[in-house]
Amino acid sequence: AKDDGKNTYQFYDKKMTEMALQKIQLDADIRKALKNKEFVAYFQPKIDARNGKVVGFETLIRWMHPQKGMMVPDEFIPFCEETGLVLEIDKYMLIQSIKQIMKWQKEGLEFGKVSVNVSTKKIESSNYIEELTYIIDSLQFDTSVLELEILEGQIMKNPQKSIEILNKLRDLGISISIDDFGTGYSSLSYLKKLPVTKIKIDRSFVIDLPTSKDDVAIVRTIINLAENLKLEIIAEGVEKREQLDFLVNEGCYNIQGYYFSRPLPADECKEFIIAHSKG
Ligand code: C2E
Ligand code: CA
Ligand code: CA
Ligand code: CA
Repeated sequence: AKDDGKNTYQFYDKKMTEMALQKIQLDADIRKALKNKEFVAYFQPKIDARNGKVVGFETLIRWMHPQKGMMVPDEFIPFCEETGLVLEIDKYMLIQSIKQIMKWQKEGLEFGKVSVNVSTKKIESSNYIEELTYIIDSLQFDTSVLELEILEGQIMKNPQKSIEILNKLRDLGISISIDDFGTGYSSLSYLKKLPVTKIKIDRSFVIDLPTSKDDVAIVRTIINLAENLKLEIIAEGVEKREQLDFLVNEGCYNIQGYYFSRPLPADECKEFIIAHSKG
């Protein structure tokens, strides 16, 4: 029995060393990926379901890993939040997004607003506003087409501080959207104070529409809340006609999801914009 115990310890010890090594390796790989420009911006269209026109895009990161192929954010963003590498990643993705926006503007395309995901770790970092101002100024970028998506759960960890920073972002002309709304337990008193213009209904409430009575009630409540607070509303993760019909019927017209399009590489967006633009 004594020996067994010892073996178990050795086993766990070995496991932990392995995991630690894996993390060190991943950390090194991500730093290298930033240097080698292996991170790429994909763009998922947002559609006004009443007329089928594109009203914007969301930038979503993809990692074109030289050995493992295309990796999605869930495989590395949570780790980057832990280590702080998300600060570099979010900066890189913002710059990529702005460059793409300016390219589309030069081509005379109409695409609404482009939203970029940003971790609160990033917006709460000490030099964030300075860094952002520098990027905007040096690229001579018109911020009115830029939106930042911030997770509701992350805002609510430190709402007082978030309000302060979001006010500065608003002063820079940037719109703010609360991402994954309904999952982060906003207190209504804070929601009223947040300088946000849009809320995004999380995919988890959309999946079982319109059959789940609970989700029907939740989504109705969120849409009513947005109407009462004069906030724009969008739903994500819409894949099926029944989900779309329910949302439109309830007054949520802006839709993002596979029903209209998956996230697209930049070079496929131009065609999409032209096919789904006004006029
Ligand atoms: P999110 O912000 O909630 O983004 C929406 C996710 O839902 C995306 O996953 C998108 O591809 C997926 N999606 C969109 N429509 C549908 C649909 O109809 N069905 C299904 N099943 N999925 C759909 P993705 O691209 O894997 O991103 C996952 C998360 O990673 C994002 O969730 C966001 O929180 C985070 N993320 C992505 N890019 C960045 C970034 O540049 N910076 C940071 N900090 N986070 C990012
Ligand atoms: Ca998002
Ligand atoms: Ca979301
Ligand atoms: Ca989500």
